[in-house]
Amino acid sequence: MSMHPLAVPLLAGHRRALARAVTLVESSRPDHEREAQHLLADLLPYAGRSRRIGLTGVPGVGKSSFIEALGTWLVGEGHRVAVLAVDPSSPRSGGSLMGDQTRMPRLSVHPSAYIRPSPSGGALGGVARRTRETITLCEAAGYGVVLVETVGVGQSETQVAALTDLLVLLTLPNAGDELQGLKRGITELADLCVIHKADLDPAAANRAQSELSSALHLLTPRGASWQPSAVQVSSLSGAGLEAFWERVQSYFADQERVRARRRAQTAQWFEELLQAAAWKAFAAGLDTAALAGLRAEVRAGTLTPVQAVTRLLEPPTEGR
Ligand code: GDP
Repeated sequence: MSMHPLAVPLLAGHRRALARAVTLVESSRPDHEREAQHLLADLLPYAGRSRRIGLTGVPGVGKSSFIEALGTWLVGEGHRVAVLAVDPSSPRSGGSLMGDQTRMPRLSVHPSAYIRPSPSGGALGGVARRTRETITLCEAAGYGVVLVETVGVGQSETQVAALTDLLVLLTLPNAGDELQGLKRGITELADLCVIHKADLDPAAANRAQSELSSALHLLTPRGASWQPSAVQVSSLSGAGLEAFWERVQSYFADQERVRARRRAQTAQWFEELLQAAAWKAFAAGLDTAALAGLRAEVRAGTLTPVQAVTRLLEPPTEGR
């Protein structure tokens, strides 16, 4: 099969080709999906060479300012930076594009940056798949740093951790203890913590750094190949950005660690796809009336969920 027509301009780094390719990948039209898979197959040999960095933190922690400051500094250092967002909750609108221009005014107009608003709402699994494919496109187009931002809450952090090499958690110097408790699950996923807006209250930032550092130490399993740490950053002044990037560099210095994580992610993705496909195939052969009957019985309490599933999977027996 010949190369997809978008492949050559995309590999040459043309932004319009990249933007059109992302639109293709995000489409749910069956013919577009086939075309997208063709294009992705062409590009796969050229993908995989970026640093994939996930960013998470509560609204107001300053994610936009951090991406603007870090991204602008990185493009100044000669990097090409792509910014993607995972937000299963937001409906797609022209507004989100405008949003990025105001959220990241300098980065959004820089020739070495590519900012893509999140794909439309819908199942988190679908958003994650499209983001994964968009990462492939950005890598093939020569973006060496891909920042994946979560805008959503809850499960989206786990998804972003599964899509990236390194997950960065942004926190505030004086976030309350109750908030820290809530964030425990997320802190466990973090490979690097940023104490953001450190300029606001330097004393609190120092305190937060030592507290967070010992918490991260306790959370890290013995013998782990990476020890997550906390670094203070002010996106307002730019202080700490370089120190932050040095830690990122030292994480990526161990290429085997990154490869192992990607292998585990690919294996996990396969299991997820397999489960979804297996369910689809199984559901296609189900007697929907019987299933509705079982659901009603479970709801009414006349059958336990375990009994109902057992009945569904049982081969039909005589005399029943
Ligand atoms: P997001 O909702 O997490 O994307 O947060 P924004 O990036 O929009 O920032 C929220 C607010 O924090 C804005 O009013 C910013 O001006 C402010 N802010 C962001 N970064 C810094 C910083 O480094 N220092 C200070 N003092 N304020 C900041």
